[in-house]
Amino acid sequence: MAEEEKLFISKDFLRSLLNQPSPSGFEGPAVVVWREYAEKFADKVFTDYHGNTFAVINPEAPVRVMLAGHIDEIGLMVTQIASDGSLKVGAIGGHDPQVLVGQRVYVLSSKTEKPILGVIGRKPIHVLRPDEKEKAVKIEDLWVDIGLNSKEEVQKLVEIGDPIVIAYSYDELNASGGKVIVGRGIDDRIGAFTVLEALRLAKELGVKHAVYAVATVQEEIGIRGAKTSAYRIDPHVGIAVDVTFASDIGGLKELEKKIGEVKLGKGPVIARGPNLNPKLVELFKRVASEEDIPYQLEAAPRATGTDANAIQLTRSGPITGLISIPNRYMHSPCELVNLEDVDNAVKLIAKTITRIDKLEEFVPF
Ligand SMILES: [Zn+2]
Repeated sequence: MAEEEKLFISKDFLRSLLNQPSPSGFEGPAVVVWREYAEKFADKVFTDYHGNTFAVINPEAPVRVMLAGHIDEIGLMVTQIASDGSLKVGAIGGHDPQVLVGQRVYVLSSKTEKPILGVIGRKPIHVLRPDEKEKAVKIEDLWVDIGLNSKEEVQKLVEIGDPIVIAYSYDELNASGGKVIVGRGIDDRIGAFTVLEALRLAKELGVKHAVYAVATVQEEIGIRGAKTSAYRIDPHVGIAVDVTFASDIGGLKELEKKIGEVKLGKGPVIARGPNLNPKLVELFKRVASEEDIPYQLEAAPRATGTDANAIQLTRSGPITGLISIPNRYMHSPCELVNLEDVDNAVKLIAKTITRIDKLEEFVPF
């Protein structure tokens, strides 16, 4: 399709990244894909003890720029194996349990080579009491069934602490001509993807600074990997990439009252607020206008719940920015984003860091 030829980003890399399981603390399979792609063009690629993975160009340059996208996703964890062979689960990150009912899942067992397919069970509607039909399901009410009926059999395959993800893979919504994609954990593997693609473009554009793309870990359980990785890099400039709520369809429009209008396909979102350096925000806007990159603005009157928060509070407070990708159905397995927004985010970030020159110009006032 002609439309797709305009995109700088690699759909193949995105597809294989999103198809890996990557719950917080268990990001390994996604990290392997990210690292392999980074090794094709970065000067140096490495992973720290925490699990954060760094891809660097010009490592010896005096000005350090950090681009952070968290590679973890929400998931579940086996907490108990019951005598009937069912698995009790706890949440890794913030789930809406209503979304979990009826899903297929993969138990990522350390005892088996392949993931174990299971389902999330619930009593049939015929036997739900009227009060049960009315009330919201809680995670404690749910269980995972892997098709076995005894604790002993299940214990041979599954261990307490094994992570679980919903079995849901990357796809393209064909009516959109492949522009709108659906996947699980697009929050925020799309951010980890964007920062690495921005690094690749920055290299093509001949950026002179040391630029670190970082696939940070454990954001969904309290913004942890950005803290440790920013401490290591000690960046002068730190830009986080995350997803933000789109407020443009169905019941999501109710969000508009709270966050204003954010639409899929209308460009990446530049956040403004005390968490973000105002001079960097101005530079993003200027670059977007000059380069014909569409963008949307979002107010962040408090600390953002993103890696940008950890970055800004690192050491003596780097020049911090946040670019977000509009996302529908956050924290459900059918998150939607528009690839043009992703591509434009990559361009906006890469072109902005080529313009960073005198750091003293970023002193806010
Ligand atoms: Zn999230």
